[in-house]
Amino acid sequence: MVKETQYYDILGVKPSASPEEIKKAYRKLALKYHPDKNPDEGEKFKLISQAYEVLSDPKKRDIYDQGGEQAIKEGGSGSPSFSSPMDIFDMFFGGGGRMARERRGKNVVHQLSVTLEDLYNGVTKKLALQKNVICEKCEGIGGKKGSVEKCPLCKGRGMQIHIQQIGPGMVQQIQTVCIECKGQGERINPKDRCESCSGAKVIREKKIIEVHVEKGEAAQS
Ligand SMILES: [Zn+2]
Ligand SMILES: [Zn+2]
Repeated sequence: MVKETQYYDILGVKPSASPEEIKKAYRKLALKYHPDKNPDEGEKFKLISQAYEVLSDPKKRDIYDQGGEQAIKEGGSGSPSFSSPMDIFDMFFGGGGRMARERRGKNVVHQLSVTLEDLYNGVTKKLALQKNVICEKCEGIGGKKGSVEKCPLCKGRGMQIHIQQIGPGMVQQIQTVCIECKGQGERINPKDRCESCSGAKVIREKKIIEVHVEKGEAAQS
């Protein structure tokens, strides 16, 4: 009935397999050949993913059954080419992998200068990192509770409007960021300002970390 059985063979199911059977087969194989567990079987993992991507989609399965792999590669009814094996894996297993990876936050890259000698002998360097943290004293309010008021200068708009005469009967309106509140639209009365962050709501926290450069690492990098 079907033109080719290769995709079915990869998943180890019969061409008459139900969607459930195909799912089960993919699940078992994808876990077994996942690159984290089996770094040498990347090609196999890719094939499994491709086979599953086609056979799990009724439309694509139809195209494959009728025209084989060639028909799939030609795109049938303009369907996109293969997704990455990891995307299929993530889709199948609930998107855990990639999204969890992204949620962890961006890596911070710091330049660290070491001499060639340091690299040969190994060295420990101190690196000062700075980041903004919410002021603990005022809990990020910037002053006493209730001390935040609408900026009197811009009336809360955060912008100031200047009117300038540029000629007889002609005026120009210029908008600038309010100098009093710096565009915030609100300000804290100077006498209520938090002493710890002086109204900035955040303080810069300095953290010193030690970086060990192992002896002889230069040879590899
Ligand atoms: Zn203002
Ligand atoms: Zn504060």
